[in-house]
Amino acid sequence: MGIVKKTVKAITIDADKCNGCRACELICSSFHALPRYSSNNPARSRIRVVREPLRDIYIPVFAGEYTASECTGRDQYIIDGKQYEECGFCRASCPSRDLFKEPDSGLPLKCDMCEDEPPLEKPKCVEWCVNEALIYREYEEEVEEADVSPGDVEIGVESLIDKYGLQQVLDTIARLSKQ
Ligand code: SF4
Ligand code: SF4
Repeated sequence: MGIVKKTVKAITIDADKCNGCRACELICSSFHALPRYSSNNPARSRIRVVREPLRDIYIPVFAGEYTASECTGRDQYIIDGKQYEECGFCRASCPSRDLFKEPDSGLPLKCDMCEDEPPLEKPKCVEWCVNEALIYREYEEEVEEADVSPGDVEIGVESLIDKYGLQQVLDTIARLSKQ
């Protein structure tokens, strides 16, 4: 397997600058709506802001990998005197909670860095964060040729197989393809 260069897109989160305005949630859900910008619903956003105003806690979290099983750990962190639940930081679309699941279908959501053609100058949530709590950068990294992240469709099919079994998914695809 060969080594190839790939462009890595990364967003650094400066939680101290986040005021919990949730503009990032609105624009993400709107950008990914079909047709584009036809609706907005934070429940469909691929970034969610942990908001606890009474404790002055605002933490933007990006939707990461889908996982079929929840972890057993429930660690807690104390940072600058504030206590955080481990699940609050977790990026996974996992069975133990509704976060990062499309509300109608239950399919997992994952941040795709606003992939578009032609490419955007920067992801939408970064563009809309007037407080500059989200900082975008790109850099090159050498990776194994096959180390390519799965797209939305692959993640969705995987989660359907976990939920209903391979045979039922195959039967459904075969039935739909005849329509
Ligand atoms: S747009 Fe920026 S400041 Fe507003 S909630 Fe999102 S990350 Fe925080
Ligand atoms: S980078 Fe794009 S897809 Fe990812 S959370 Fe931000 S707006 Fe949503």
